[in-house]
Amino acid sequence: MTSTGCKRTLLENFTEVLTAVGNQAVVGDATIQRFCPGSIAIEDGMIVDVGPPDQVLARSGQFDERIDMTGKSAIPGMIDPHTHLVFAGDRCEEFNRRLHGATYVDIAKAGGGIKSTVRATRAATQLQLEQRGIQVLNQMLMQGVTTIEAKSGYGLDHATEIKQLDAMRSLSQKHPVEMVQTFMGAHEIPAEFEGRPADYIDYLNQDLLPEVKARGDVTYVDIFCERGVFELEDSRRHLERACELGFGVRLHADELVHMGGSGLAAEVGAISADHLVYADRKDMERMAEAGVMATLLPGTSFFLRGNYADAKAFREAGCAIALSTDFNPGSSHTCSQSLMMALGCMNLGMTFEQSFVGVTLNAAAAIQQAHRLGTLEVGKSADIAILDTHNPLFLVYNWGINHVEHVMKAGNWVVKNRLPVQAA
Ligand SMILES: [Zn+2]
Repeated sequence: MTSTGCKRTLLENFTEVLTAVGNQAVVGDATIQRFCPGSIAIEDGMIVDVGPPDQVLARSGQFDERIDMTGKSAIPGMIDPHTHLVFAGDRCEEFNRRLHGATYVDIAKAGGGIKSTVRATRAATQLQLEQRGIQVLNQMLMQGVTTIEAKSGYGLDHATEIKQLDAMRSLSQKHPVEMVQTFMGAHEIPAEFEGRPADYIDYLNQDLLPEVKARGDVTYVDIFCERGVFELEDSRRHLERACELGFGVRLHADELVHMGGSGLAAEVGAISADHLVYADRKDMERMAEAGVMATLLPGTSFFLRGNYADAKAFREAGCAIALSTDFNPGSSHTCSQSLMMALGCMNLGMTFEQSFVGVTLNAAAAIQQAHRLGTLEVGKSADIAILDTHNPLFLVYNWGINHVEHVMKAGNWVVKNRLPVQAA
């Protein structure tokens, strides 16, 4: 396998090529295409043909490079539409205390939880945040994830929120994982505003949001809409202000109790509402009507030993469903989307195909990129995860194993033989 730079490349004779079909979010069961065997033709970073090997060869003519993929399978580069990418420190000791019986409240009282990550992130330099971020992005890439959404929200003050956004911008320029950026200053109430969430929202609305908008690199605003953090009224004020300024909005909603955040997502026209463990049927229907993506995060349910969202109920209500890791240091420290597929199948009531669409086409739609990412179709970016197995079902069936052997992003090899390719 040669390096990047070939103009026309043919990845031929995959034992299977598996992809959903389409340019927008799918509600219910997607059209799934399987070519067994299949080939993919690539030119200038785009997919120009896909189908049975003999047909692709006959249609597409000469290639600068042909690579035999017999025995392997291909899926679209996976998309993770909800990550807290940039932070300092870790909480592994706190995790162990939890295993020994400490409660979340015990840990918070001892200065742990999100507040400890905020302290560490405030103390870190931008360079330190980037160095850690590159490690995580490499892990994502090696797991077949080629595009992510990434949030700020471990600063909760001006300097650190901006430092996180600067780190994300720098990472998105130097690392092949494509990134859309979200400002989440309303991730928690900072110590400086303890007991005064409304004042903190005023501060964010007046001071930070306009400055963040002026940067030009932040697409979305997110908020932790939850009992005891930001209640409905404060959440609404913040999201409406974000909409006024031209941001798209998303919410952490109904994760721990039913408070109506998913209904608010419909009301403000959010792109996505995430978690949704305690969303009720009425709010699901309102989300469906408003076209809000239901992004489910089973990693947090698993890691906090909590309840799982009900994917079947969302499907029946007419919502499209995406899956995400919620990568973060406290409640889901993983960047494995194939593990989320496994949890989706085993604990959310999804089929393999639904979970597959949840990390590809619908995940692309959750960040408004389904017109160019999320499927292996002509005209889309050549973002391809190549698996060391003849059948992509192994992603879930043979769980806990990373099956991703090679990865292509926009036609360039970014993982070869399981290792990131160093940029030239
Ligand atoms: Zn989150």
